[in-house]
Amino acid sequence: MSELPAHSFRYCEIALPVPVDRLFTYDLPLTLRHRVRPGCRVLAPFGSRKLVGVVVRSHDGPVAGDAREVLGLRDEEPVLDSELLDLARWIAEYYCAPIGEVLRGMLPLGGEIRRSTQYSLTSSGRDVARQLVLRPESDAALRLLGLLEERTRSATFLSSKIENAPVLLRSLVKRGWVVAEDREEERDPLRAAPARLQAEFIRRATSQEKLKKGERELLAFLELHPGPHNVAELALKVKRAGESARSLGRLELIRLEIEGPRFPTGFERPVPILNAHQQAASDAIQGALEKNEFKTFLLQGVTGSGKTEVYLRSIEAALALGKNALLLVPEIALTPAVAGQFFHRFGQQVAILHSAFGDAERADQWRRIRNGHAGCVVGTRSGVFAPVQNLGLVIVDEEHDGSYKQQETPRYHGRDVALVRARNAGAVAVLGSATPGIETRFNADHGKYQMLRLPERIARRPMPQVQVVDMRLEFLETKRQDSFARKLLEDMEQRLAQGEQTMLLLNRRGFSSFMVCRACGERLLCQNCSIVLTHHRRDRRMLCHLCGFAEKIPSACPKCGSDKIQFLGTGSERVEDELHRFLPTARIARLDRDSASGKGAFENILRTFRDGEIDILVGTQMIAKGHDIPNVTLVGVVLADIGLSLPDFRAAERSFQLLTQAAGRAGRGATPGHVVIQTLNPDHYAIRFAAEQDYDGFYSKEIEFRKALRYPPFAAFANVLVRAAKQEDALRMATQLGYLLNPAPDGVRVLGPAEAPVLRVRDEFRYQILLKAAKRTTLRDTLRTLRAFAEKEKWRSTALVIDVDPITLM
Ligand code: ADP
Ligand code: ZN
Ligand code: ZN
Repeated sequence: MSELPAHSFRYCEIALPVPVDRLFTYDLPLTLRHRVRPGCRVLAPFGSRKLVGVVVRSHDGPVAGDAREVLGLRDEEPVLDSELLDLARWIAEYYCAPIGEVLRGMLPLGGEIRRSTQYSLTSSGRDVARQLVLRPESDAALRLLGLLEERTRSATFLSSKIENAPVLLRSLVKRGWVVAEDREEERDPLRAAPARLQAEFIRRATSQEKLKKGERELLAFLELHPGPHNVAELALKVKRAGESARSLGRLELIRLEIEGPRFPTGFERPVPILNAHQQAASDAIQGALEKNEFKTFLLQGVTGSGKTEVYLRSIEAALALGKNALLLVPEIALTPAVAGQFFHRFGQQVAILHSAFGDAERADQWRRIRNGHAGCVVGTRSGVFAPVQNLGLVIVDEEHDGSYKQQETPRYHGRDVALVRARNAGAVAVLGSATPGIETRFNADHGKYQMLRLPERIARRPMPQVQVVDMRLEFLETKRQDSFARKLLEDMEQRLAQGEQTMLLLNRRGFSSFMVCRACGERLLCQNCSIVLTHHRRDRRMLCHLCGFAEKIPSACPKCGSDKIQFLGTGSERVEDELHRFLPTARIARLDRDSASGKGAFENILRTFRDGEIDILVGTQMIAKGHDIPNVTLVGVVLADIGLSLPDFRAAERSFQLLTQAAGRAGRGATPGHVVIQTLNPDHYAIRFAAEQDYDGFYSKEIEFRKALRYPPFAAFANVLVRAAKQEDALRMATQLGYLLNPAPDGVRVLGPAEAPVLRVRDEFRYQILLKAAKRTTLRDTLRTLRAFAEKEKWRSTALVIDVDPITLM
């Protein structure tokens, strides 16, 4: 990694985190010329700003016009190797995304310059704060001055502490009590001291005078206290310990090492003997690893068939061959239970990359991977960019999962990027799922991937038995509009009596209640989005599920003033209440975005459930994913139809996957499992095949439909969204793109422009154009034309959204 470059170049091409599809040429100051290499970050002037960009290449010109000079070099060693730079180029090209934004997303945090406004008291403000002579001011203003009396504070901090801070600040500034100052702050976790750095004495300095006072102190301390010390803790004993430790480390007077992550415990399992199917799959993967060439497997195994064990063995095999492994898991599935299993097997070789980690922690893990200390990397979507060297194996668990698709620019699919990365590295790729994505299975059927099957559950445990309840009949027979059919209630009662557990899947979208005025028909809509507000009774609020807008529950219709307002629909809270009413002794918990917000809350609920302190866990799709809790013998789906009626060609696929995965949570222990699916559409094929847990049946039906309508995998597909605050602007821009696409380019079908399914979101109007192309290259060229047009017309950078291979059209 540290060989010197043969040349020193005068210019470099930099990718900057701006939404423009090009590189920028900069001049290198003499002192930097021999040090700047591709993959290093540099600080560069851009307009009136300073930005951190990544050097893509350097050269001696010629350059057109004047090139501005690079301000500084961030890394002596490139942070991105050539493999990751290549991957970035592929993503930029394939997803039609600006390279600078792609590269920014690849680093654990880009080392950004943040602009912030800092507030401090003026001298008269200080007097006021001291004398508290505020007459008309509220307590809030008083508290605000109190906070500022201690020290200068940022706008963000003040807003987090005091409601209405921006307004208060403005008035205080106007009175001359507070001054505002704009500051640029650098945040660079990659350069900051690692969160858990250890320092240990090696040898004494020959000439102590060259050392600073703090360095001498630290060195003396470490010499007197042998063994490794955590630098963060040293900071309590020795001033500026972090800084001194780094300089002493550079002088090789002390050893500096990043501590490995701590092990979550309690998830140890004996290493099992593989069953025949697992063995065959592991053998095939190991065989491919030994050949040192790119190959992709689809590991299709029913729920509870022991896919994780196959991953573990394959990683072992890779490590034994001196290669490193990368495993991607869906966001929600990366629980301590999963991490614990990996630590148990691979110890300190494991690195975990999770978006819930703080910057410093993530940077630590990143460095351990980069230095080769961690050969087994487990991460969520962006983990695909982990700087794994000598990559031999890439595994994507639950490859069908929607959380692999990033929903902002660059809108890449983690699974597909993982495959490209494996191909470039000559590594083996394994895609695992009980319900593979339609495209994935199609590729396997057409010989692109080799299929490996785990057709049965571990220990020949039966697949859960599924009963479909037609809720239309249930309503007719009972004349009641309860959320639960008699069958499901009976089953839950029975589990309760037997000390077994139940999971209830409740899809949020359908379980919301909204407000209607019976006098004029007005429905209460979000101020920023064209959807109805959801009634949250416990918080006494109406809430927008798209943008988070909240308001008080009105006592009269905002349009006609009538007080005849009514709430329609079944709220998830109501379902929970019904449950308490029918099963008063049951211990019930809810797992959804509301109950599980905040770090650790999600895991806490899951842990208490796993420990048997909860009888019934009610939850949104979060509960369907991957969890392996042996005492769950019943899974109920409260209403399966939700999602089926969405205007989206993937609606059936997603519903099938969700139902099958949810059903798969039942009966994973010794006692067989049961599933009850309540529905208004018992004949829909997605529900029928899910009830039979018949993936192949579903696939053959779905692929026919995709073929007939030329949807993926039979066409390359993209969604082009145009957004603007004013409806007429959005419409005009969409129409301009429409003209550009008329006549449609050869081999491309253009649908739209039309209103997006939700016209207004977060105060912006949205129109969309769908493009289907027979060939990927044609699609790419067409998209490029559209983007070039937007750049030429100087559209706002967020006005045009290009989503290649969209997973949802909503
Ligand atoms: P899947 O991901 O395919 O749904 P898991 O990997 O969660 O299934 O495995 C289900 C359970 O079976 C886990 O508790 C796992 O520890 C256990 N298991 C896996 N392989 C074996 C085996 N060969 N013998 C016994 N238990 C196994
Ligand atoms: Zn009204
Ligand atoms: Zn909204």
